[in-house]
Amino acid sequence: MEVVSTIDRIKPILKEIKAAGNKVGFVATMGFLHEGHLSLVRESIRTMDYTVASVFVNPAQFAPNEDLAEYPRDIERDLALLEKEGVNLVFSPSVEEMYPEDYKTYVEVHDLQSRLCGVSRPIFFRGVCTIVLKLLHIVNPDVAFFGQKDAQQAIILKKMVQDLNMDVLIAVTPIVREPDGLAMSSRNTYLDEHQRQAALCLYRSLEKARSLVDKSEQSALKIREAIRAEIFAEPKAEIDYVEIVNTRNLLPVNVVERGTLIALAVFIDKIRLIDNIIV
Ligand code: AMP
Repeated sequence: MEVVSTIDRIKPILKEIKAAGNKVGFVATMGFLHEGHLSLVRESIRTMDYTVASVFVNPAQFAPNEDLAEYPRDIERDLALLEKEGVNLVFSPSVEEMYPEDYKTYVEVHDLQSRLCGVSRPIFFRGVCTIVLKLLHIVNPDVAFFGQKDAQQAIILKKMVQDLNMDVLIAVTPIVREPDGLAMSSRNTYLDEHQRQAALCLYRSLEKARSLVDKSEQSALKIREAIRAEIFAEPKAEIDYVEIVNTRNLLPVNVVERGTLIALAVFIDKIRLIDNIIV
């Protein structure tokens, strides 16, 4: 497995790989890898000829009051995990490599970026779209793999590549959960034992929603109230949002149908966690 940290170095390597007729898969990560990330890597390795993973904690998606400095990092462990999976190439650039001092260009996907997570994190998706677009230009993959865990991110990135007429396919793979249902996340490492237990209310509330839908409940209002009640019952939890939306424009629906997205963000003490299901 080759590890590259500069754009000048990675571009010619990938040009040669593609010229030889290989289909390139790409997995973008912020590192501190877990089974969720590795499921994307495995999907790429299974379906593509050559897999590139990136490890880069992207400052542009963190607001000044957010956890950029504390975000967990362990590049040695990440590289060992990626090598074990059979990744061909890792791109692990410095902040200066991706955002030199005179950096000026940012990408926005209007409307979609302002809903759900965009309400409490107004610059988040601008940062995500900018780094992903840069990485897609650098790696030039045939398929880029993203997790359903970040449902809004996947929807926005699909819109971005469509609007910008890019040839890359955005593939979305299912949420990987801990045995008790908690969606895996690098931020789960912030949780102490009590908070970890409290965090189960996210999954519990979504399961409650699923069981209502299974019993033919279609009222978004009622399902939303049931989710909120489940989360209110957990003293450590505070709701950022619970939204029931269509996946096209992320606007709320009244009637829950096949394909409706139920997404939520909840603070457990000060730690913000997200989760979702598609009905
Ligand atoms: P991150 O390192 O948090 O930026 O995540 C990198 C990629 O891994 C994104 O496409 C995420 O959606 C995906 N991912 C993170 N957690 C999970 C999970 N629990 N299940 C599936 N994919 C995930």
